[in-house]
Amino acid sequence: SQSARLSALQENVDRSTRHIDWPTVGDRHQYPSEIFNADVFDRRTMASTLPKPIYQAFTKQMQGHNKLDRSTADAVAHAAKVWAMNKGATHFTHWFQPQTGTTAEKHDSFLTLKSQIVDGQEETYAIDHFSGGQLLQAEPDASSFPNGGIRSTFEARGYTVWDTLSPMFIRRGPHGTATLYIPSVFISYNGEALDEKTILLRSNEVVSRAAVGLLRVLGDTETQRVSTTLGCEQEFFLIDRAVYNLRPDLKITGRTLIGVPPPKHQQLEDHYFGQIPSRVLACIAEAEYELARIGVPVKTRHNEVAPNQFEVAPIFEGSSIAVDHNLATMEVLHQVAHRHKLKVLFHEKPFKGVNGSGKHANWSLQTDGGDNLLDPTSSPQTNYRFLLVLVAILDAVYKHGDLLRATIASASNEHRLGANEAPPAIVSAFLGSQLSEVLNAIEENRPVAEHTPTVQGVSVGGTTLDLKISSMPPIARDLTDRNRTSPFAFTGNKFEFRAVGSKQSPSFPIVVLNAAVAQSFIEVTAALKAAQADKEAPSEEDILSVIRLFAISSKKIRFEGNGYSDEWIVEAEKRGLPNLKACTDAFKRLLEPHNSNLLTSLGVLSQSELSSRYHIMVEKYAKDLVIEANTLSALINNGVLPAAFSYRKDLADSINSQATAGVEATPEKKLLVALTNGCMALTEASEKLDAFIEKVEGLHEEEQGEAAGTLLTAAMEEVRSHADALEKKVADKYWPFPKYTELLF
Ligand code: ADP
Ligand code: MG
Repeated sequence: SQSARLSALQENVDRSTRHIDWPTVGDRHQYPSEIFNADVFDRRTMASTLPKPIYQAFTKQMQGHNKLDRSTADAVAHAAKVWAMNKGATHFTHWFQPQTGTTAEKHDSFLTLKSQIVDGQEETYAIDHFSGGQLLQAEPDASSFPNGGIRSTFEARGYTVWDTLSPMFIRRGPHGTATLYIPSVFISYNGEALDEKTILLRSNEVVSRAAVGLLRVLGDTETQRVSTTLGCEQEFFLIDRAVYNLRPDLKITGRTLIGVPPPKHQQLEDHYFGQIPSRVLACIAEAEYELARIGVPVKTRHNEVAPNQFEVAPIFEGSSIAVDHNLATMEVLHQVAHRHKLKVLFHEKPFKGVNGSGKHANWSLQTDGGDNLLDPTSSPQTNYRFLLVLVAILDAVYKHGDLLRATIASASNEHRLGANEAPPAIVSAFLGSQLSEVLNAIEENRPVAEHTPTVQGVSVGGTTLDLKISSMPPIARDLTDRNRTSPFAFTGNKFEFRAVGSKQSPSFPIVVLNAAVAQSFIEVTAALKAAQADKEAPSEEDILSVIRLFAISSKKIRFEGNGYSDEWIVEAEKRGLPNLKACTDAFKRLLEPHNSNLLTSLGVLSQSELSSRYHIMVEKYAKDLVIEANTLSALINNGVLPAAFSYRKDLADSINSQATAGVEATPEKKLLVALTNGCMALTEASEKLDAFIEKVEGLHEEEQGEAAGTLLTAAMEEVRSHADALEKKVADKYWPFPKYTELLF
């Protein structure tokens, strides 16, 4: 009721900043470097707690990606248990990533009962025990996780297996509880991937092999592995819990289904990079502290463009760890926000008319020697390498842009993509004017036009690179070019996949990117070998010819202009680039032969894993929309219409009493008519919505997604427009739900 709303607003106003005691050493604060990894059973801790031969065996098995043998596992488990118990842990859990976008865990105590015969009597006693078997593998009841039909109902078994590349850590909970977390993969009885991690690890292997193959042709005999690196910038909203609690739509669906956008929000651009509000700073700082302890290297925090919107970004890491850490970041923020009486919203579009949230996935490739393959350097040798890697990535994005689009499709991200704030549903790649000119020059077999990077007309210089071919002037590493409208942008020494949703796991988008790039590496390598023919190694001319070949064939994916413009939509269509506006159309691309062949031939996903993933995505999409529609319907019937009716009744009473007093209540009558019309329109729209919900719920799973995407989305929009019109008319004191201005300021 409106009184609940008013007291929630009061609570929000009265709220003070939660006090946190920053940990100290002696009489000074702990340094960030001292906090970092404090609760991680990292390699250094392992080296100091394990017998040397065991540590060596572990390292060897981990690097070879072999399963640990039993005695090594037992010894590691024992050392981990002692370490964890000394830090207060009582429980352990495998921590895994089912296809829900979040993580799952099931805690078990170290407590074990033993019995012994004492004086002829059996006596039970307790010990703390953790075996290698328990460390390596657990068997959660898997039937309740999404599997898209991979396991038939009689085979509900799934296994979680420790991913030894990701270290164990301790997470602390309320009242001093502490649990040992074991990052794990989640697979079916037959070894099929049921999770996000297994496929990411596979794709990392595949891209590593393909990249090493390319490096070999270029004469690199040293590099044994190439890893993918990832840094996820995470955007989110923080709002007060009291007002949040009175918004069933936010609580159930993560976004507001009704609400009039405020007259002032980011138009004034006074929030972005502004001073972080103290309640928020306290919350983010506490989350960062907890994250640092478990090894998440959060580096940056700042206000984002919308009111109440913020961002944290980590130092980049190997992509599998980076995904673990991004998920941990979301979970820790969620928990810590609670303590600060705040609610964190990860939904891509919680508020209509207000900027949404994304997760920019910064991605690159790094050799085991520490070279970033996307870093243009000053040595000509590595610049050929750089250009070959670059055109291979363009080729990958060109051939599988539709697949990349599918990986970011969801009911929630749909509101953001193409909404003039996030990249459109058309996948293109941005290089910046300097690199574009280099590729164009190579293509046209002409010298590169003189280029000096400028900011607002002022030359800012840049690192120059010598391509060492007589016709090639130096390339400058241009850091000034930025294009925020591109879904896939080169930013100096990495690509930034910007269309990834704030709420989703970054895993699948990276899996597909890795796979597509691996395939293009294989093709570039083959082209180099063909050009080299029976020579020892490809000549400069051979290499340039291959760069030219791939620069030309992938040229359509390059777009430097405004991705938000209508001209781009027309231009993209001319180029034949897919513009997959509907999620359901995007999902279908997973099963297109050119995409499914890519994933299956490389062994990243099997056909049945792929089709199960497809079903999970379609089903989730339909479910999300049906839940939203039902939530909206309840909101209207239980909150909006009753509020309007109360107001109408009071107006009618007032008109009557004025008539008795002999006064003509003209304005009230006018308003009463308008309200009546508004209520009627809302009632009809809401009835239509209810009918559609029933229709969609009655459909077969295959058809549900499409029907939900068309019928429900449109019907919800219509209901909302009438509800929002009423919000503007109904007197403030009748309105039960906190309004946008109350949620956001
Ligand atoms: P910008 O987006 O302005 O370039 P930063 O340089 O701060 O901003 O980088 C943004 C994110 O990109 C950070 O999370 C950072 O760790 C990550 N990043 C930087 N270099 C790489 C790399 N080589 N591979 C993957 N991520 C990277
Ligand atoms: Mg960035």
